[in-house]
Amino acid sequence: MNGNLIATLLVLLLCAGATMAGVMLSDEPSDPSVITNTPNQVEEIVDEETPSEEEEEPTEEIPEEDPTDTWELLLANPSNPLPDDFEVETAPVQGDFVMDERIADVMKEMIADAKEEGVDLMICSAYRSIERQQELFDAEVAVQMNNGKSKEEAEKITATMIAIPGTSEHHTGLAADIVTPTHQTLDPEFADTDAGKWLQENAAEYGFILRYPEDKQDITEIIYESWHYRYVGVDHAIAIKENGLCLEEYLEILKEGGLEKDGE
Ligand SMILES: [Zn+2]
Repeated sequence: MNGNLIATLLVLLLCAGATMAGVMLSDEPSDPSVITNTPNQVEEIVDEETPSEEEEEPTEEIPEEDPTDTWELLLANPSNPLPDDFEVETAPVQGDFVMDERIADVMKEMIADAKEEGVDLMICSAYRSIERQQELFDAEVAVQMNNGKSKEEAEKITATMIAIPGTSEHHTGLAADIVTPTHQTLDPEFADTDAGKWLQENAAEYGFILRYPEDKQDITEIIYESWHYRYVGVDHAIAIKENGLCLEEYLEILKEGGLEKDGE
């Protein structure tokens, strides 16, 4: 009825639209090395992006409360065993080896890209059932006991090399042990091979991290494993690599609101 009022409302609507467009553009994480999703920003974005629709399923980019509660950041370690009913859909990645079907393609892509650069990435272990883990664990305990250790000592030593069944990342389908035809032993020297170097250089761009770094054994409770790579997603992998973290440290930081650039 009032022309001025209608014009004012139109202007307001246009402004609101521009604001929302601005928010959505800035939502794109441009620099993955810096986690800018502080809790406050997440709340803002959630408010802005849920106008009238019924609540939609939260996307991976906008975690609701716990930013670490996503499938790709699933933590399986000696202090965090997987639930007994844990299941994962798997798909082949190389030979008979299978991984979580959500990352099978990217693993195959990484292997193919390395191959194009003359580097042979050879998976020697990927998804592993809890039963298989038990067999591996028991076998190593037996070896240690043959070397004169008590059962308790043998289990303790074994647990630093082979995850206690239920706590292995290999159960998640997100981890693989990778070697190369000319160096198939699982030892620190794999890091010095072409394949080891290629992975250190490039794996993060495919979403994989070196899961058990040499200087993080106190935190991961696992020895340095130059061959064990774990999928966490590209942005997380780059942030973890650039900040020299292990997954446990990174998850703590995420829960506390994200990474900040310090010492600048
Ligand atoms: Zn492994």
